[in-house]
Order: sequence, then C-alpha cells, then structure tokens
Amino acid sequence: MARRKKIYEGKAKIMYEGPEPGTLVQYFKDDATAFNAEKRAKVEGKGVLNNRLSEFFMKGLTQIGVPNHFIKRLNMREQLVRSVEIIPLEVVVRNFAAGSLSARLGMAEGTPLPRPIVEFCLKDDALGDPLVSEEHICAFGWATQQDLDDMISLALRVNDFMSGLMLAVGIKLVDFKIEIGRIWENDFQRLIVADEISPDSCRLWDIETGQKLDKDVFRRDLGNLTDAYTEVARRLGVLPSNVTHAPRPTLIN
Ligand code: 5GP
Repeated sequence: MARRKKIYEGKAKIMYEGPEPGTLVQYFKDDATAFNAEKRAKVEGKGVLNNRLSEFFMKGLTQIGVPNHFIKRLNMREQLVRSVEIIPLEVVVRNFAAGSLSARLGMAEGTPLPRPIVEFCLKDDALGDPLVSEEHICAFGWATQQDLDDMISLALRVNDFMSGLMLAVGIKLVDFKIEIGRIWENDFQRLIVADEISPDSCRLWDIETGQKLDKDVFRRDLGNLTDAYTEVARRLGVLPSNVTHAPRPTLIN
C-alpha cells in the first residue's frame, strides 16, 4: 500500500493527507492519555468505538444543520474529514459541575448549573490548556469577537443536540469539549465543528445510577474503559443491543 503523508499526530488521533485537496484522513488510535499525557495506556478497541461514535454524532449534527468537518467513514479506524484551520481554543460546555470547574470553584460534582456555561481553554499542552477569557482571546488575536459569538452559538447547538440524544438513552451530558475550525468558501470564511465528539471528550453519567461512561473511568481508575464506551454505543444503537463486553467491537452499518 502506498505510504500516506502524515500531517499531524496527536495523543488520540493521526491526521493524514486526504485523497483530494481540502480533505484529511482522521485515524483513531487506541491510546488513552490523561493529566496532560502524564498517565497513558493502550485501550484495545477505543479507537474503533470513537471513530464510530464521532461519525454518529457528526452525522446527526449535519442532519440538524450544524456544520462540521465529517465527510464519511472510510473503515474501522478512519474517517474522511474536511481540512480546517483549527482555532487554538478548546470550547467546553458544562451543564453540571464536575472536573476542573468543581476543583476551581469548590462546587460538588453533579451540582446543576443555572444555565449551560461555555468556557475557553488555550490549546497548549506545555501550559496544561489554561482557561482563558474572551478578553485574552481577542487581545491576543486567537479569535475575533465575531468568531467568539459563532463559537458560542455552535457550542450551544451541539449541547442541545447531545443533551437530548443522551437523555433519550438514560445518560446525563455533564459537560464536553469541542474544537472548531475555519474554512474558506470562495471569499467567505465560516466556522465548523471539527476534531471529534466521543466519550473521550464528554462527561457522560448514567441518569439512574450515576455510573461514569466516559474517559473519567480511565482518569480515575474506575474500571474498563472499553466496556464504558461500548455501553454508550450500545444504548445509542451504534452497536447491536446484545453486546455486553466487546474487546473487539462489532460494527453495524
Ligand atoms: P475539565 O475542564 O473539567 O477537565 O473538562 C471539561 C470537559 O472537557 C470534560 O468532558 C473533558 O473530557 C473535556 N476536555 C477538557 N480538556 C480536554 C482535552 O484536552 N482532551 C479531551 N479529550 N477532552 C477534554
């Protein structure tokens, strides 16, 4: 097989040059990292599940008119996506207190927030992705005020979509992170959802039991990560319903 040009390798994914200009191939690895990659492991099957789950969420977003980079899934671990210029910010939406918000403000995990809260963190591993204000973002030119308005609007639409989807299968969307990219169409530019949406970048709790079904299982040593992601995929109908443990997930179309 011809070797492909690797554009970028991150902690959980590799981006290769795509078959046509303006496209990339996004490859999902099995690597799990936490605490700025201080904790790392290979979790068999994670990449396959995240490829399929991200496809499912992005296709749903397309169906409700939320622009995103997904074009099509190519195989078990790869999807074809539009090439974007990633805005160097992580956009976090929170519905309930957890994680760094709970630590920062001393708020018990699970406390409902008065409304969805959107936060921005600078994408900078060396600095540990610090929280930044809109003032910082505009002053340092990471994005314009118009970009910020568009990013907040996209993030809240993703939140409404994902919250409803999860609620329907008995899961509470506590919070999530997305990344947003810039594309040009003729002389116009617009912002679209990029990267991935998967249990790696969301907090997902079972509504009845509070059981965690996301990357906190790995971060906090709460059990088998593949089992947790498989459960999310199974409930959403992405995997057959009779799968209870799937070290090698079986995909259905
Ligand atoms: P927190 O700020 O509480 O650590 O994270 C908030 C939400 O954003 C969580 O759902 C978490 O999984 C997600 N998140 C924050 N930073 C990252 C990151 O660097 N990578 C991934 N995959 N998710 C992140």
